[in-house]
Amino acid sequence: MSDVFRVSQSKVKVWRRCHRAYDFKYVQGLRKKRKSRPLQFGTMIHEALEIHCNGDDPLEYFNHLRSDVEAMRLFAQEREEYGDILEDCEDIVTDYLKYWDYDEDIRYVRKRRRGAEHHFEIELMPGVIWNGKIDNLLVTPNKLRWLGEHKTYTRRPNDDDRWRNLQGATYIRANDILGWQPLDGLLWDYIKSKPPATPSVLKDGTLSTKKIDTLPAKIHRVIKRHEGDPGNTKALLAMAEKNRSQYFHRVYAPVNRTVTDMIFEDFKASIREMIDGHGKCSEMNIDKHCSWCDYEPLCRSLLQGLDVDFVKEKEYTDGTKTNHQEPPHSAIHKADYDTVQQFAAS
Ligand code: SF4
Repeated sequence: MSDVFRVSQSKVKVWRRCHRAYDFKYVQGLRKKRKSRPLQFGTMIHEALEIHCNGDDPLEYFNHLRSDVEAMRLFAQEREEYGDILEDCEDIVTDYLKYWDYDEDIRYVRKRRRGAEHHFEIELMPGVIWNGKIDNLLVTPNKLRWLGEHKTYTRRPNDDDRWRNLQGATYIRANDILGWQPLDGLLWDYIKSKPPATPSVLKDGTLSTKKIDTLPAKIHRVIKRHEGDPGNTKALLAMAEKNRSQYFHRVYAPVNRTVTDMIFEDFKASIREMIDGHGKCSEMNIDKHCSWCDYEPLCRSLLQGLDVDFVKEKEYTDGTKTNHQEPPHSAIHKADYDTVQQFAAS
């Protein structure tokens, strides 16, 4: 282990969920060669909305991707399995902007000339650096200040998912330690990741107006590609417009300092435990969460007596060598251990 121990809320989450997964990810450095569809989707939506929060045109992001030959080669390979993620994301972002009126009544707070993705590094304990990234900070017309988090989902999150969310509570604390203006709460900005459905074509060649889970941008795309008379497009578009609320919703959750304190103390306790167990504890915690664990093929091979090294070689890569883009040094907000202590004493 190097002198500095780096932690993040996702690292703590993995540690708490399963020590074997932690070992695969943070000790052995294994990463899946292929990102799952939800992960690819989430990354694309996040990157596009980051551009939006910075005051630029997020749809340019998709044009830029189309001109990236390497990215398009990968998309072509995966289209069969995942569908056209690029088009789906573009349609969803197009309607997101329209649904929220391009956020004209929201002011995104700029830090070091950025309106989104505020990176931080906080020395939480001597030699322990907590790093993270706050999606955005914003002020609503009633002058309240919020920490905004974009969340893509396949199953609509509810109150249960929110109250136990580690990231929200810890990032509120990061905001306070960094000495930024106190927050009134968290804005959960939810975006459904399901590909908008395509209307079927009827026998007479027109498009069916049957209710489907879709968005206007998808309908416009289908109409543009349709050969001949598409039929009653007005009804189709009206149905899709009404359906936007199924794709986008925002929840403003006021901050509760007592809850934040409790969650943060537990967060620190897990970090201490993690430091002690790093490289030593790797027991499996087999449960239903294994179904969506990146390391399921490894545990499965192990328990079925198959060749684990072969699976490792075939499906995983050395995550420590991937071209992970670090933010520029000047964009990282820092707080040293003295600042953390002063904050705790205040
Ligand atoms: S598959 Fe299950 S037991 Fe194996 S690493 Fe993942 S969570 Fe742990």
